[in-house]
Amino acid sequence: WSKTLARTGCRNVCSSPSRLQSMSAWVIDQYGSSGVLRHTEEIPIPTVNFAHDVMINVSAASLNPLDLNMRGGYGATLLNLRRDPLSVVNSFSEFPLILGRDLSGVVVDCGSGVTHFAPGDEVWAAIPPWKQGSLAEYVTLTEYEVSCKPKSLSHIEAASIPYVANTAFSALVNAGGLCRESSLNKRVLITGASGGVGTFSIQLLKAWGAHVTVTCSQNAEGLVRGLGADEVVDYTAGDVAEQLEMMERFDVILDNVGGDTEEWATRLLKPWSGAKYVTLVSPLLLNTDSMGVLDGSLHAGLTLHNKAFQNITCSGVFYRWAFYAPDGPALDEVSRLVDAGKILPVVEAQFPFSQVPQAFQKLEQGHARGKTVVEVA
Ligand code: NDP
Repeated sequence: WSKTLARTGCRNVCSSPSRLQSMSAWVIDQYGSSGVLRHTEEIPIPTVNFAHDVMINVSAASLNPLDLNMRGGYGATLLNLRRDPLSVVNSFSEFPLILGRDLSGVVVDCGSGVTHFAPGDEVWAAIPPWKQGSLAEYVTLTEYEVSCKPKSLSHIEAASIPYVANTAFSALVNAGGLCRESSLNKRVLITGASGGVGTFSIQLLKAWGAHVTVTCSQNAEGLVRGLGADEVVDYTAGDVAEQLEMMERFDVILDNVGGDTEEWATRLLKPWSGAKYVTLVSPLLLNTDSMGVLDGSLHAGLTLHNKAFQNITCSGVFYRWAFYAPDGPALDEVSRLVDAGKILPVVEAQFPFSQVPQAFQKLEQGHARGKTVVEVA
């Protein structure tokens, strides 16, 4: 502790002896709706325990649909197994649980093995869902999950990007097979492009030279065109599949909408040419919540296998599920693109730390146009 205090000189930590071991955070003590959010000053500060740990004083956090879902218990079965692999046999409680997956802030302490960061560095990160979140004064992560924040952005702006950036990289690069070198003139369709993942993905793909078609509501057309979308299809104006079928076929589809989208979307891919349909909306966590880890995973695996087999054998297109994955080096690349002016933050709404419940209410209304950010410090 004395090491942390000496390095940080942080007012929040030093000013009140009674708070030396605890921090301010929004937590939930049970799953439920908006009423379960509770502000407390009594959460133990997550200090550096391992050689590669980086402790961060959070300046800003942002919310994602996952926070709403996790507040209601979504994914708890699998996430608890990741939090404590023995949780199925031992009694284990994830509460009090801190939500919030993005952060921008300042490093206050580092483990002995940390080579890339030092106290005082401005950083950003996306926090894996099995770790305590960023609606708190402090977060401790491993250095591989952390990246230097773009210099051109404020903390509020920076906090809007990491989780959607890591998700987009996982979907477009790992599952979709795209990268800076291979994207030139590739035809990519993004459904649900007006939200957090979509607004980021348009910009990343345009920075890499792809041709980007999107679906969104009519009133989001100005936003997505401003971010670089080449063609915009209003899904509220008639049959969206019919409108898209009149266009040239696509190399990659990133589906942010799910549901029956995949019934028609896979038909829009170039057949027998390595084209890929990638969806971010999979039943894996719902299955493990309702059936347990083993049965749920098997059921989800079978579903994925059947759909992938059907698509590859019938039309030669790849069918894939994608998930957020922690990836500090990907954020380094995004940071360079941001500082080069190729990716802009899209902050739709901003709330003070005292109004986290109001920020959740904003998210619950849906129809996101970019991100909702919370100023933590
Ligand atoms: P957002 O809530 O930020 O954005 C969703 C957007 O989709 C909104 O702008 C909404 O606007 C638009 N939309 C809704 N229905 C349609 C439709 N039928 N056609 C076109 N647009 C539509 O979500 P995110 O961008 O953060 O995430 C997108 C999806 O990906 C979510 O379902 C999320 O849960 C999932 N996700 C999954 C991850 C994973 O690890 N698997 C990680 C991150 C996200 P409007 O309603 O006004 O049209």
